[in-house]
Amino acid sequence: MPFADAHCHLDFEAFDLDRKALISRCESVGVKLLIVPGVARDNWGSVIKLSEEFESVFPCVGLHPRFMDKHKEDDLASLESVLCKYKQIVAVGEIGLDATIGDLDRQVYFLERQIDIANRFLLPVVLHSRKTHNLLIEVLNKKPVLHGGLLHGFSGSEEQARVFWSKGIYLGVGGVISYERASKTRKALSVVPLDSVVLETDSPDMPLSGGQGGRNTPLNIPFVYKEFCALRTENEADICRRLWLNVINLFGIN
Ligand SMILES: [Zn+2]
Repeated sequence: MPFADAHCHLDFEAFDLDRKALISRCESVGVKLLIVPGVARDNWGSVIKLSEEFESVFPCVGLHPRFMDKHKEDDLASLESVLCKYKQIVAVGEIGLDATIGDLDRQVYFLERQIDIANRFLLPVVLHSRKTHNLLIEVLNKKPVLHGGLLHGFSGSEEQARVFWSKGIYLGVGGVISYERASKTRKALSVVPLDSVVLETDSPDMPLSGGQGGRNTPLNIPFVYKEFCALRTENEADICRRLWLNVINLFGIN
């Protein structure tokens, strides 16, 4: 069964020197599906272009909270035009909240507008949430996503995991589960429904334990998978098949 990386920033500069070779290597180790989110208006073009060059790449477009100082009100209208024009886009993202960056009110505003857009275009959302899981739950209560979503880099409790899943939000599991200190998240991921989980790397960020300081790549997906399997009681073949189908179902890929 092949693997998917449900969240990797392959358009980022860190991959400028070997992007093509890396994507071929991913395919050869079985990582055959790469979901690449856009983070700001000026990188949507490169994400879309990547999806035209590589069959394994599927693009998303969104306005990420970390780049809030770049975003303008009329970027929301541009987002809609891009979604109209490029039918290969599989989600609105990366969007969300980040408490380590100022002005949460403005972040909430952009998040809510983008959830509206995703709902109108019948698309899922790809969510970023840093130290904001409870605020994100409040936003989703007020503004439900109608076509599912992914909370990437999940690092919350079992209770939060179940709340997100009840709202149609899959949990993105990455390198964080390889850290002993992430015991709350590891415990949550050992018991959440297998149907609610997808694997991701967030490359080039979020390395596995031991890889700190280096560049993360989708080649690490099989290692994330091993860590995840170690937390679960199901057999590995079932886990692998389920994780693949979850990505296919969430992003509507056929
Ligand atoms: Zn990301």
